[in-house]
Amino acid sequence: MKTPLDEPVSAVKGVGPAVAERLAKLGITTVRGLLWHFPRLYQDRSRLKPIAQLALGHHEAFTGRVKEARTSWWRGRGGVLTAIIEDATGQIAALWFGMPYLQKQLKPGTQLVLWGKVTMGKRLSVLSPEFELIGDDEPLHAQRIVPIYPATAGIGQKRFRRLMRAALDALAGHAPEIFPDAFREKRRLIPIAQAIEQIHFPEQMKAAEMARRRLAYEEFFVLEAAVALRRRALRHGVEGIAFDISPKIDARIRRRFPFRLTSAQERAIAEIAADMQAPRPMNRLLQGDVGSGKTAVALYAMLAAVANRHQAALMAPTEILAEQHFRTIETLLKGSRVRTLLLLGGAAAAERRANLAAIREGIVDIVVGTHALIQGDVEFARLGLAVVDEQHKFGVLQRATLRWKGGEKDSGSLFCDREGRRKKTPGVFFARPDVLVMTATPIPRSLALTVFGDLDLSTLDEMPAGRQPITTTIIPPTRRNDAWQLIRRELAAGRQAYIVYPLVEEADTSELKAATEMVSHLQRDVFPAHRVGLLHGQMKPDEKQARMAAFRAGETHVLVATTVVEVGLDVPNATAMAIEHAEHYGLSQLHQLRGRIGRGEHPSHCLLLVDEPEASDKLAILAETTDGFRIAEEDLKRRGPGEFLGTRQHGLPPLAIGDFTEDIRLLMEARHDAFALVEADPALAQPAHRPLRRAVLARHADSIELASVG
Ligand code: ADP
Ligand code: MG
Repeated sequence: MKTPLDEPVSAVKGVGPAVAERLAKLGITTVRGLLWHFPRLYQDRSRLKPIAQLALGHHEAFTGRVKEARTSWWRGRGGVLTAIIEDATGQIAALWFGMPYLQKQLKPGTQLVLWGKVTMGKRLSVLSPEFELIGDDEPLHAQRIVPIYPATAGIGQKRFRRLMRAALDALAGHAPEIFPDAFREKRRLIPIAQAIEQIHFPEQMKAAEMARRRLAYEEFFVLEAAVALRRRALRHGVEGIAFDISPKIDARIRRRFPFRLTSAQERAIAEIAADMQAPRPMNRLLQGDVGSGKTAVALYAMLAAVANRHQAALMAPTEILAEQHFRTIETLLKGSRVRTLLLLGGAAAAERRANLAAIREGIVDIVVGTHALIQGDVEFARLGLAVVDEQHKFGVLQRATLRWKGGEKDSGSLFCDREGRRKKTPGVFFARPDVLVMTATPIPRSLALTVFGDLDLSTLDEMPAGRQPITTTIIPPTRRNDAWQLIRRELAAGRQAYIVYPLVEEADTSELKAATEMVSHLQRDVFPAHRVGLLHGQMKPDEKQARMAAFRAGETHVLVATTVVEVGLDVPNATAMAIEHAEHYGLSQLHQLRGRIGRGEHPSHCLLLVDEPEASDKLAILAETTDGFRIAEEDLKRRGPGEFLGTRQHGLPPLAIGDFTEDIRLLMEARHDAFALVEADPALAQPAHRPLRRAVLARHADSIELASVG
């Protein structure tokens, strides 16, 4: 159902084709879009100070009349426009550099509001102030708290305010109230029409704050309601496989581990086992720091599926990681009857055909590969569990989980019938395999619950005992030799080292050349007594494997690696890692990188080589702690969720007003309320919930099962 807010923005008085075009550049096409374009800040012009009372060194707003304006030339600064502004109490000089065209607007007698930093040069001045002309008939722009809008695509602040005023007067009353009055009062939320008015033209700063809170809460609530609905859709009415994990099976699996599981691993295994035993599909995220033992937990789940005569698949982001997982699994499974297969891209056609047939006919139990496993021609006889090792690639995760939703519609190769047979007949109900996603980038819980809203969360927050510590040192440019010195010491003791050398553009040959030159320099001048190898993203898979194997076998001693992912290696004898241009990485990424060392019986050293001494502060927390969750929180705080999760496809919608890092408490409150509501009324069918239902569909229809909300 359409409301007046869904009308094109041209319905607003003052919006002609030209303005509409500019607004479209800001993504504003509807009345709602305009009303939801919120101010970036406010300026209190309700009590503008007389010029005589302006405080030096402060940002001040004041009003006055242009006495005179002229342009002069200053050496080194070009044209300087100086306007003398006066009121009844005094004068101030306003200076603009290189903006001679402003003079046209500053005719003597013009009344303006200005804001900027007040200084004292030869006389009282304000440098490059922002300003607005005002007439007597325009109380929108002075004598009140005034909104300042973010990017306006060339529409002046005043014009923007006028458009907003017109939109508010005509249409704010039509903004649908999605919350029943009683609920609003309980949660101290002001009515929507009032919130929209006060966010733009607040009577007091406090009113703006209340409006912000109300609008942010609504934004979170609608988002979390969508998350709750999507979660429900994934769990209800979709049949999964109820695995039987008897004490006998449990004991048999455990015999495979040559170590005692940590209590965090025990907890995660209990959660996973409960999911797998239930008749609905598991959708679980297993997060834990590098080295916390996720693979062991995943293997438990895979063996449980195999014990139930189903297949399990493990997918890694790269072939190297897939190979490594495969190696680990083979070691742990030595002497067992479980049949494993590594499926990589490079195999010859005949071999690949044979492998695919083995998977299709159910001759193999555990298949390890890359994400290609869920694409194209791979068909499983009876897939019971898919484990996705994401490392830090969230985008793929999003796509993968999407692909698995809605068992009836999609006849993707992962679906099988209740007997574990894969069927293609349309309309037949497929039991969905369980899905376990692993990630080594710890995500603060509040964010994880929203980004991965349809996943349950298990966390490994404890490291296996006996881990050797990693000492992290930040190395400024002047002390690079210390870093090489330390690495030589490790090499002399028989250890190995990584040097991570980032390429901005892996495909750029000149950069690759720089990396290659770096390797020769290191070999010749820095580590003449040892062998230095190179691993980069443009190598053919075979060659990568060979370089890796050489390093693992100790034939090369120093491995220079150009990409982050390729460094996903498990070589316990590697005890030192130097990371060049460390400040180019996010904190979490650096933390993950250093997880490649400290895997053996010797203490390890991570050396963060920075280009600028100032970068040390930024990285200091890495030297302080190895707690991945603390680092992730710091990282998130600094970079915001978009960058933290990796720009696009991180699954978070853009927010107009709420902030995933600043408003966590409000987010959690809204989440709690939204989940309770969806629990009570899963189709949002009650009359009181209709406006909410419309809001959810309008904003998040693409991320939820439309069918599930009718
Ligand atoms: P992650 O996948 O979380 O990075 P892994 O599962 O690869 O961690 O485990 C890292 C190393 O620790 C592996 O060599 C693994 O065999 C070992 N490991 C796992 N769990 C334990 C445990 N409970 N006690 C001792 N070692 C363990
Ligand atoms: Mg691992």
